[in-house]
Amino acid sequence: MKSLRDLYRYGPGPSSSHTIAPYAASKRFASLIPEGEPVTVIFYGSLAHAFRGHHSDASVFLGLGERPISIYLDKETPPPHPLTMTFRCGELEHTYFSLGGGALFSHSDPEVNEKEVYPFPDFSSFVDAYSRSSFSSVADYIAMFEPGIRDYCGEMLDAMFASIERGLSTSGEIPANKNPRLQVSRSAKDIFARAELTEKGQGRRELLLSAYGYAVVEGSACGEEVVTAPTCGSSGVLPAVLYYEYKNKGVERTRLVDAMLVAGIVGNVVKQNASIAGSVGGCQAEIGTATSMASAALSFIDGLSLHQIEYGAEVAMEHFLGLSCDPVDGYVVIPCIERNGVGAIRAYDSYLYAKYIEPIRKNQVSFDDVVKAMKMTGDSLDEKYKETALGGLASILKEPPSDED
Ligand code: SF4
Repeated sequence: MKSLRDLYRYGPGPSSSHTIAPYAASKRFASLIPEGEPVTVIFYGSLAHAFRGHHSDASVFLGLGERPISIYLDKETPPPHPLTMTFRCGELEHTYFSLGGGALFSHSDPEVNEKEVYPFPDFSSFVDAYSRSSFSSVADYIAMFEPGIRDYCGEMLDAMFASIERGLSTSGEIPANKNPRLQVSRSAKDIFARAELTEKGQGRRELLLSAYGYAVVEGSACGEEVVTAPTCGSSGVLPAVLYYEYKNKGVERTRLVDAMLVAGIVGNVVKQNASIAGSVGGCQAEIGTATSMASAALSFIDGLSLHQIEYGAEVAMEHFLGLSCDPVDGYVVIPCIERNGVGAIRAYDSYLYAKYIEPIRKNQVSFDDVVKAMKMTGDSLDEKYKETALGGLASILKEPPSDED
């Protein structure tokens, strides 16, 4: 498994696959060529289809710096990976794949490839290895593999909370095309105000979780920098539950940081054995993974057993299996923002299942099982349900043709 630093990245929204990864590839390519030399960039697959709504051009311009830049969108050639980009400058050419969460892979420029840090192929091997260790804290065990990771996650936690607090005090439109369905305003502030008027037990927790989740992902949709957890599109779920525990239950920051380590292993299991990219596995890969991570974090914070942590993560994913990725007109607005609120609530429910139902009813599905099912389902999903803005809600709510068309 790769570093948790590669799972929790800080960068501009609205889509880590389409903004953070192209930015990283552009910056890397720029470091290999002389300043000012012209560069040609070709985007394939989902990068070409969702280009307009995902602001990929801004990331490329930022990463390549001041120089002549030509960008081509090839929507016809079948790419070797759903998110493929090729950079050319004179004789030099590199092709990069965006793997989700901002990660890159390249055959021709292997320097960008992520390195192995955790020696676990899946969740069960992680549990086995931990149970054979002398550690009494699963977070201490995880931290042993990656020096400085607690400090790093502490920084990411601060960035998550800053995104929430910024979102809770910000109003205004979310940028999109002229599609009337996409003329929506940021609403986290109003949802939070409604939550404060709501009694405990009457939906207050659900409204607070939604407000926190919306606050992050609405910022991401506006191009603000957020922490991938595991992606920009699903960046609201984990911060929402962590902030809820911090603000509403008084959980200490150090405990939240340790919860991020445990959640990170859950996310890494999915990243390694399936995908965390909507363009590869559908939204189950993004919101499903984020919800599993958040459920695991909540179970850890409450002191549940590792078996219960696994159960909650499994439940969270199992009931998102098959969820398609269908952002309307390619903007990470509908259905993405609402999905983060629902994901945070689902994470909390899954944790409650782990706490109260797992001791009563033996679970027959392991987390590794559900990840395998998620991969099989994602592989068989039609391309139109994988961040191409061609299927599902995207096909029903797409921008109507203008008079000029
Ligand atoms: S539908 Fe889900 S996977 Fe697709 S862009 Fe939106 S949040 Fe990401």
